[in-house]
Amino acid sequence: MSEKKGLASLAGAPDQSMFKLLGQVRAMSSSRDREQMTLRLVTAMRDVLGASEVTLYAVSASPKGPVGAIVAVARPDHEQVANEDEDHPPVALHEDAFLDGAIRSSDGVAESNTDGIYRLALAMGDAGNPHALLVARCDVAPEARVRDAFLHVAHFYQNQLDLLDYAELDTLTKLLNRKTFDENFDRFIASVGRAQQTDPERRQQDDLAARPSWMGVIDIDKFKRINDTFGHLFGDEVLLRVAEVMKHSFRQRDKLFRFGGEEFVVLLRNVSEADARAIFERFRTAVETHEFPQVGQVTASAGFTRIDPVLPPAEMLGHADEALYFSKENGRNQVNCYEDLVARGLLEGPKQADNTGLQADIDALFD
Ligand code: GH3
Ligand code: MG
Ligand code: MG
Repeated sequence: MSEKKGLASLAGAPDQSMFKLLGQVRAMSSSRDREQMTLRLVTAMRDVLGASEVTLYAVSASPKGPVGAIVAVARPDHEQVANEDEDHPPVALHEDAFLDGAIRSSDGVAESNTDGIYRLALAMGDAGNPHALLVARCDVAPEARVRDAFLHVAHFYQNQLDLLDYAELDTLTKLLNRKTFDENFDRFIASVGRAQQTDPERRQQDDLAARPSWMGVIDIDKFKRINDTFGHLFGDEVLLRVAEVMKHSFRQRDKLFRFGGEEFVVLLRNVSEADARAIFERFRTAVETHEFPQVGQVTASAGFTRIDPVLPPAEMLGHADEALYFSKENGRNQVNCYEDLVARGLLEGPKQADNTGLQADIDALFD
């Protein structure tokens, strides 16, 4: 009889961990929350393989090779999803021959068993260019069928994520879609508030008021002319490339949406007004200097406003839109901040409204 933990006793009567695994699969199938699904995946892997550590990395390319950002970790008594508000240096996956091998292998799976340590790695996504890497470290190698059972679960997780992507992402650019904005805006605001509340140290040393969050609206300049001159296919290519420039210009924890047509919305977390402006400027310059096939140069304008949890999203969008409109009216290819324009008397400020009811709702959210 094996003394291994996990599904090792699958040959006989199903043990507790198999029921646990089925429970995690059932929970994954009914969840629409990425964080919850990811936690279930790493805990299922830990429990099934009896792993001492399971890590899920988001993989991206770097000039030296693939690098990873830790998304979730599970250890024997503890599992957690990484806090989006903390910056960590990327892990050089390419420096670990075993992990690099998993990323480059055609089926994405690698195993090693040396010096009494067993490791299993599974790269998820396109072969050779995965978006995630799941790694388990165990003191004892699991049976092949236990490992296979887990790999099936990992594929199930991947399929569930694909379904979520289909519902939440814009099909052309793969940015978040408008529906996702409408459905998740409250959650985003609540998470900004939570991060601010649960981090008293940061709050002390750097007053929250100095690092608010921002909503920006971006619109491609003279896009109709691009369509009319080069055709819709080239128009679509411009949209795709602008979306790529966005993904490189903003940070992973910022939320990027295609709102429709050639309009995009960005939610920027916890930066000063000067930094928000610099980030939007970096994006604007990146578009201006990008060489678009056939079309040549394209520019974009933006307007941004401070996120105030007291205001309804539609009102904040209206403010960002006013700042965007100002950019368009004043020559395009520029970025403006609503609050700055109001302070300089270039835009009329918001009408005074009685927000006490809404404030009570917001307070209740943070209780
Ligand atoms: P401005 O600088 O004032 O923003 O001018 P504009 O021409 O960009 O503004 P306008 O809103 O008049 O034009 C937007 C155009 O975007 C109109 C529409 O034909 C085009 N469009 C909307 N959705 C798509 C799409 O999915 N693909 C393509 N190729 N074009 C689209
Ligand atoms: Mg437009
Ligand atoms: Mg436009």
